[in-house]
Amino acid sequence: MTNSTSRDIMSQMSVRYRPYFNLSPLFPLVLLFTSVGVAPVRAASVGAPECAAASTAEFLNSRLAFWQQRLNLQDWKLSVSSSHPSDLKPETLGNIHWDKDNKSAVVHVLAVSDYKMACPAALEDMELTVVHELVHLTLSPLRTSATNRTDEEHAVNQISDALLKLERQHRAHETSPVALIQR
Ligand SMILES: [Zn+2]
Repeated sequence: MTNSTSRDIMSQMSVRYRPYFNLSPLFPLVLLFTSVGVAPVRAASVGAPECAAASTAEFLNSRLAFWQQRLNLQDWKLSVSSSHPSDLKPETLGNIHWDKDNKSAVVHVLAVSDYKMACPAALEDMELTVVHELVHLTLSPLRTSATNRTDEEHAVNQISDALLKLERQHRAHETSPVALIQR
């Protein structure tokens, strides 16, 4: 569409900025609110996975597959990879590189070992990064050289937060062993 001169195979990119970590005195309050509202139910019913490398990768792959289907992105080849801060832009939690010609994309998320929060909360935040980056991918056909990236980021934050809240409300009501196995 646009006459990009980029020769990168990964021709497009978006990053997810770190919102509140160690920056806002409100963050513990936000975390507390989240915990009271949703997290304990989910942790108890789903059985939050351990944060060992293997189970974290399994968790991320399963959530990627879920959101890929939910966002109707099955025609894309997607993968997710944990990244250390040195591989991400400063103050970001992840990014996505996509190649629209090959319909392939890689989501990078901050590695669980680099999170300062406890394991279940870290995994939940990593899932938010996955959703966030996939929303960027969903909106990517709209992007032009004139796109205001700040506006895009704001919209992506709102959409991904809303999607994940809905999904977590849904999960919180799934308490049967069958639901647990299907995950
Ligand atoms: Zn973003």
